[in-house]
Amino acid sequence: MTLKRFSLFLLSSLFVAICCLLASIYYFFYLPGIKAEILDQQQQEFNLLHSALSLSKNSLTTLCYDYAVWDELVEFVKNPTDEFVQRNMPDNAFEAANIDAVLLTDINNQLVWDFQHESLLNSRQSLVNLITQGDAALVKILPTSAEIALQKVSSRSGYLVLNGQLIYFSNTTILPSAAVGEIVGSLTMFRLLDSALIKDISQLSLIDFSIQPTTKTTNTSDDFFSFQQIETISPSHTWLIGNKFDDEVVLVTLNHKKVSLPRLDWLSVMLLMIAAVLIISLSLMMLSKWLISPLIQFNQNINDSSNDGLMSKMRSNHFIDEMDSISNSFNQLLQKFNAQQNYLETLTVQDALTGITNRRGLEAFAKDIVLRWHTEQKGFSTMMIDVDHFKAFNDQYGHLEGDNALVAVAKSLAEQVSTYEAIVSRYGGEEFCIIFSECDPNIIRPIAEKICRAIEQLHMPNKIGNRQWVTVSIGVLVVNGEATHATQYSFSDVLQQADEQLYLAKQTGRNTVKLQCFAQ
Ligand code: GH3
Ligand code: MG
Ligand code: MG
Repeated sequence: MTLKRFSLFLLSSLFVAICCLLASIYYFFYLPGIKAEILDQQQQEFNLLHSALSLSKNSLTTLCYDYAVWDELVEFVKNPTDEFVQRNMPDNAFEAANIDAVLLTDINNQLVWDFQHESLLNSRQSLVNLITQGDAALVKILPTSAEIALQKVSSRSGYLVLNGQLIYFSNTTILPSAAVGEIVGSLTMFRLLDSALIKDISQLSLIDFSIQPTTKTTNTSDDFFSFQQIETISPSHTWLIGNKFDDEVVLVTLNHKKVSLPRLDWLSVMLLMIAAVLIISLSLMMLSKWLISPLIQFNQNINDSSNDGLMSKMRSNHFIDEMDSISNSFNQLLQKFNAQQNYLETLTVQDALTGITNRRGLEAFAKDIVLRWHTEQKGFSTMMIDVDHFKAFNDQYGHLEGDNALVAVAKSLAEQVSTYEAIVSRYGGEEFCIIFSECDPNIIRPIAEKICRAIEQLHMPNKIGNRQWVTVSIGVLVVNGEATHATQYSFSDVLQQADEQLYLAKQTGRNTVKLQCFAQ
């Protein structure tokens, strides 16, 4: 797997992991928290509505009780007069107290007096019937004859649904205020939960709700006044309020303010994905620029060097510090490597004993010289130098002294040609070879003769016959650059002819120079 693919894989994995983490946070922490908050608010709205309706009912109960313990009302039940009504119970007094109907009954449950607000006029007969007719409903609203017989003070309240309207009632037994005396009947007050009252409650409690008539068959939740625990989040919740007298019920609908959980729509998800992809791409670009590319460059450098031996330095101004450290380390290593390589290369072309170029170095140099001879018609000269009677020297002074003598000869040769464009090499054993870029025999011959004299003047003793010192014989071959068909000849041909001259020098008494121009 390439580093780029691996980085892509790594970033993709990271992307998936982050998505999973975000989704987990969203579904397991954020959503449940929001859900609990909304449920809590919806429950509070229900509690508020429940309290508001109950309060309104309770105020009617209090009012009804206040009237029922009024001594003069006791008298009125016993002896109803118009004058009392006009004086004490005018219509506007009930209207002001938001009471829509008042029914006054005696202990036999016979209607003594009633008040009906115009809002309830359509239901007047129904109300009177409900109170005065001896059906089962009466038992629920009015005190029972047994309670009256026992002189038991009682009050009851509840809801009625009459002609599709929700009405609550409160009934209290009528008796003297000091509770001394007999119960003379009961007082029932009604209040209609009409749109005006709903509006008032809504304005006070900031709750949006409505009440509508319906039938019991409607699929709704339990009765509103039983305790309600809101379990699920919904835009609205509905409950039934009914009475126990008939099948009429009303439906209370509470419209909630906070209704839904936050949801991620497709557009948002797509935008998030695009943003994530952009971030990943940017990260990949940065990774590629600052990490992968330098690594690829490193690899390229190392590959190049292993292929063609050329190692180039790494740049060392990377964005990432560690990459700079790697670059610096590599460059230091490269420096050491190059130094060692140079040293090794030197070793391969250097003669271990004398320190001058060896035969391998000579041949490498000769290659260039011959190439220039072939291509540029540039001439040169070659000297083959052989120490005379060196075997005898060794025999006399030992091999070690022989080595020292060879070193002295090499040093002297180098000194003699130092002012010329030339290379001095040890060709092998006690043989040396010098290549000059000069090709004029009139210049080369004196140089060779000067070398002969210089070696002799080293005065290294080598007594053979009438000879006293170590001497050398030199065979010189001058290659004229203008020679025709030069390309047919190689350096070994040159050496061979130089060797022939050396042989001649040996033949003619040694310590001498023999020179010839290249013969084709
Ligand atoms: P000539 O004048 O005909 O060249 O006689 P020569 O004795 O020099 O020639 P020969 O080829 O018979 O002997 C060469 C000697 O050089 C033999 C060998 O011991 C000696 N020699 C070659 N290389 C070295 C070396 O590295 N060190 C030492 N000490 N002697 C060497
Ligand atoms: Mg020899
Ligand atoms: Mg020799």
